[in-house]
Amino acid sequence: MRTLLWPLSILLLLATAAAQPSTKPPVSGADTHAIWDTYGKTGLIVSTAARAADASLTCTALASGAHEDWLPTQSCGGVVGFLAAGEAGQIAATYWLHHTRHHKLERIVPWVFTAVSVAAIAYSETSSDRRHP
Ligand SMILES: [Zn+2]
Repeated sequence: MRTLLWPLSILLLLATAAAQPSTKPPVSGADTHAIWDTYGKTGLIVSTAARAADASLTCTALASGAHEDWLPTQSCGGVVGFLAAGEAGQIAATYWLHHTRHHKLERIVPWVFTAVSVAAIAYSETSSDRRHP
């Protein structure tokens, strides 16, 4: 349980820091916004931190002889590669949704990825064959 607390503490700290109000003037236009405004940056930072915590815990578990159940790899490098591809996919989806003016969907993307990473961390911490020594 202690290993689960530090990634969640980091997530909370990053979310609090990123949620500080921006000093930049708002983008003009009723239905547009800067893609990396405060909300966009917050989502990216939180999802990246969750993904990094997931990678760290998974690599630690693999090094201690555990089995990766969710990804088709059993190596730390493979896990990091898959999670880096997820990061690139998330950013690409965010850009595409923003530029096609699907701003509400764009706002959901980082939180979906964050939820998957948090679920993976919770699974790692509760699965009997992935517990850390
Ligand atoms: Zn947008």
